Amino acid sequence: MTHKILVLPGDGIGPEIVAEAVKVLNVFTAEGNLSVALEYANIGGIAYDKEGQPYPDSTRALAQKADAILLGAVGGPQYDTLDRPLRPERGLLAIRADLGLFANLRPAILYEELASASTLKPEVVAGLDIMIVRELTGGIYFGQPRGIRVLENGERQGFNSATYTESEIERIARVGFETAMKRNKRLCSVDKANVLEVCELWREIVEKVGKEYPEVELSHMYVDNAAMQLVRAPKQFDVIVTSNLFGDVLSDAAAMLTGSIGMLPSASLNSSACGLYEPIHGSAPDIAGQGIANPLATILSVAMLLRYSLNRPELAERVEAAVEKVLASGVRTGDIYTEGCRKIGTVA
Ligand code: ATP
Ligand code: MG
Repeated sequence: MTHKILVLPGDGIGPEIVAEAVKVLNVFTAEGNLSVALEYANIGGIAYDKEGQPYPDSTRALAQKADAILLGAVGGPQYDTLDRPLRPERGLLAIRADLGLFANLRPAILYEELASASTLKPEVVAGLDIMIVRELTGGIYFGQPRGIRVLENGERQGFNSATYTESEIERIARVGFETAMKRNKRLCSVDKANVLEVCELWREIVEKVGKEYPEVELSHMYVDNAAMQLVRAPKQFDVIVTSNLFGDVLSDAAAMLTGSIGMLPSASLNSSACGLYEPIHGSAPDIAGQGIANPLATILSVAMLLRYSLNRPELAERVEAAVEKVLASGVRTGDIYTEGCRKIGTVA
């Protein structure tokens, strides 16, 4: 079976790191182990430059037919003065909404070789391997009503609505449990049910879905405590499932435990197997075009693509093992360089 993969290099370092990641797919294809048809399209600033929109119809048509999407990064200072709907970041939001990518999976893995880059003591983070499952298309980021209104006394008031329907909670909970089943069968649901009604419902529904997964050990934690525990003793977690806002904050905090932003991949999934895979970092305009960007986050995103959309876990494991081997060999890009290593760029 030939898998259709849409490649969206985007802006800044996007094209450089994506080119490196595509080489990984090409290795498997050359071996005869994988059959993929790669198509390329524009997203973000480059799409605005060439087609007048950050998520053009031509890209959309290809995205809807793809089995998986590999994305680099979008954005750059030259686009900061554009009208908001035309900005590169809108392209990313649009494709997520368009494909219904409601589940964002962000692993935080500490590679042994990079332990010294963590903000925590080596013994606290050694062997760290957490998966954060963040709801991506609901919650306070999308809830209505929202806005800034003028009160009777003339003062302005900003307001947003944190909303989740039962079905929205149910489907993200299910991704959490399924992820836990594939790992160590431990799931921690993070909420603020002591204060927020939306979280009360969240907890109730997560409990209900949990009945279908008796093998998974389910726990609940308030988000303030979860933030503290994450920096105090992060290894107590295996899979965390949480809402859009809490997941945004916790996954950035977890990322810092592992050292470099240049190492961390992500997957955004919908209810079919199609997913969008991208590094968690941005377009890094400050180093674009110099051939010094770390391609590992994007290469590890390819591993997630192989695991979640193409159902080829054995190939995903080979990619991850190769990354460890390269790190162990002492080869490093600048962001993860430490004394005694060999510094390389992606340009020979
Ligand atoms: P965005 O808003 O798109 O997330 P940002 O400005 O917040 O972008 P990044 O583009 O991720 O952040 O860059 C933050 C810093 O990390 C920059 O100094 C950048 O050079 C560095 N950086 C990001 N990605 C990489 C990478 N793959 N390799 C090396 N350095 C990187
Ligand atoms: Mg950022």
